[in-house]
Amino acid sequence: MESKEMDYQLAIEKVYSQISCAENIGEVATYIPELGCVDPAKFGVSLTTLKNESFGIGDCQEKISIQSIAKVLSLTLAYNIKGQELWKRVGVEPSGTPFNSLVQLEYDQGIPRNPLINAGAIVICDILLSNLKDPEHELISFVREVSQVNEISYNKSIARSEKSVGYRNRALINLMKSFGNIKNDINQVLDFYFILCSIEMTCQELSRTFLYLASDGVDPISGKKILSLSRSKRINAIMQTCGFYDEAGEFSFRVGLPGKSGVGGGIMAVHPERFCIAVWSPKLNKKGNSYKGMKFLEQFTTETGLSVF
Ligand code: GLU
Repeated sequence: MESKEMDYQLAIEKVYSQISCAENIGEVATYIPELGCVDPAKFGVSLTTLKNESFGIGDCQEKISIQSIAKVLSLTLAYNIKGQELWKRVGVEPSGTPFNSLVQLEYDQGIPRNPLINAGAIVICDILLSNLKDPEHELISFVREVSQVNEISYNKSIARSEKSVGYRNRALINLMKSFGNIKNDINQVLDFYFILCSIEMTCQELSRTFLYLASDGVDPISGKKILSLSRSKRINAIMQTCGFYDEAGEFSFRVGLPGKSGVGGGIMAVHPERFCIAVWSPKLNKKGNSYKGMKFLEQFTTETGLSVF
């Protein structure tokens, strides 16, 4: 089906009602206590096109903890600051291990496999800390600029909650520090990382924010260049191969769009030249991806025939 003829609202509603009736398997993330308080029945979808037409259903106007989806924003910011230099500190290969795994980091001598797993995002935070005068303020300003929503912020209770149980992230950063791949004070880097992970957005805001990745790095609504064409293409490539923990192959196979998930149950995915779509359902499968979110996107790309392949 051609995009001109596509009735996105109808397509979303049809798939939403199918998936709403299906069983809701999985568990809400409870390893971060504050995330465990969310209602597991929540389910929202929003799609925004390059022409700024927005379609939504369910809980798409509720703020969610975007968690690792924010790693795409920190990567964008750091890539613009460091360019090619970035890849000396972090790789671009899928990890094939869980998002918070320590094993591979030891083998790879403190160089994380990619910027979308925890270790990689922590290195990106370290780079931002070294290069920004007021990292917290500049990160939030950047997110507000890209989303065009001035009140976007992070949730302090979630950031505190993450900090209170951040044992694995602490282990990852200590290991990387021992290999010389963390330059700043580890507590400062982790505090900044927890701020990044606890940014909140609605599905509608998510689907608006990442339009630049569907549009060669340029925000199609404001016309502002967020990234060069080449960098935008590369971030999409990293999302396609590394955006879903050790289930990136499965997501590519079943959905066929570049995207990124977070343990808050959100998933955003882009269709270059067409749209960005965001889905939220808090129950996660064993790999840490939203169970219904993945089901919805699989069904959506199957019904509409809209994938990158
Ligand atoms: N803040 C989470 C953590 O560091 C992010 C995990 C995720 O969404 O993948 O464990």
